[in-house]
Amino acid sequence: MNIGVLGAGQLGRMLALSGYPLGHRFRFLDPTSDSAAGRLTDHLAFDFLDESALDKFADGLDVITYEFENVPVYTAQYLEMVVPVYPPPAALEKAQDRYIEKSFLSALGVPTPRFTIDITAAFGFPAVLKTRRMGYDGKGQKIIRSEAELGNEPLDGLIMEEYVSFDRELSMIAARNRSAEMKFYPLVENHHRDGILRLSLVTGNVLPELQRQAEEYITRVMTTLDYVGVLAIEFFEKGGRLLANEMAPRVHNSGHWTIEGAVTSQFENHIRAVTDAPLGNTSPLGVCAMVNLIGHLPDVKSILKIDGAHLHVYDKAPRPRRKIGHVTFVERDMDTLLRKLDLLKEIADVFR
Ligand code: AMP
Repeated sequence: MNIGVLGAGQLGRMLALSGYPLGHRFRFLDPTSDSAAGRLTDHLAFDFLDESALDKFADGLDVITYEFENVPVYTAQYLEMVVPVYPPPAALEKAQDRYIEKSFLSALGVPTPRFTIDITAAFGFPAVLKTRRMGYDGKGQKIIRSEAELGNEPLDGLIMEEYVSFDRELSMIAARNRSAEMKFYPLVENHHRDGILRLSLVTGNVLPELQRQAEEYITRVMTTLDYVGVLAIEFFEKGGRLLANEMAPRVHNSGHWTIEGAVTSQFENHIRAVTDAPLGNTSPLGVCAMVNLIGHLPDVKSILKIDGAHLHVYDKAPRPRRKIGHVTFVERDMDTLLRKLDLLKEIADVFR
């Protein structure tokens, strides 16, 4: 099939890399001319709201998807008039505004941290103040510790959340195809620093009850939206319960381990889902760790020297706080996995 992708970053690049073996072709649309996915194949560098560019992009495509949740909803709706767009534009609408997103999740009975857009009506401090829109990788959010600190903040466009002193962060990645078949990956344990994901671990250390709970929550979301594609939900685990922090209607950084660590990767399952193919097996192949390479590329040869290191370089210019690659290890046991992480720590910034 001819697949169009809105957004051309590393997620788009990895989508294409997983779709080529299945015989698909890709075309990207992204306003930035110099992009990680654009280096692989056709890339139209136009604004997402340029209708004549959208017509040109859609011409000859069988299906359109996106790798970026801030694609304007209008763009997805416009394209949907001529080519099927998955995930459904309604999912974009929910995920683009943190208030709409949390209200939607709560209405489905998916627990979230307490939240309000009446930021003067706080539930005590510390609290987390976030921009409703366009925040990612910790951008557009800060911790507020007192009433006085709140005084300087604008009143519009923000959401205030209860600060959750979570036990850990977990994410659920699931896929649903056009025939409503669903598959779930095991919950991933995520470690952030400065709001950026640094390390994801899949080590079998999640209670089956939490896995069941997360699958039930994501099923509710996918069924309600008649979702098609891969969906990620990030949770806080606290006292044996899950609180949903946010959802991403796309492949997700905490699912990169699946490229080598699961029978079928999240990228391939997304492609299978949107092309109405049966979904692939989501079982893990061992214990896994995925380390993001952020800001600059460490010495590549030293990484490749570590037995079993799977290196992915996104071909992006280095810049502070920018994700420019990742390394995955898939091992039989935890001792070996931790030893590999220690070796990587000598070369790269491994946060643990
Ligand atoms: P977000 O941009 O919402 O994904 O937040 C980025 C990271 O900030 C999360 O992965 C958490 O580590 C932290 N964080 C966000 N919201 C909260 C919260 N309500 N309480 C505590 N930590 C939070």
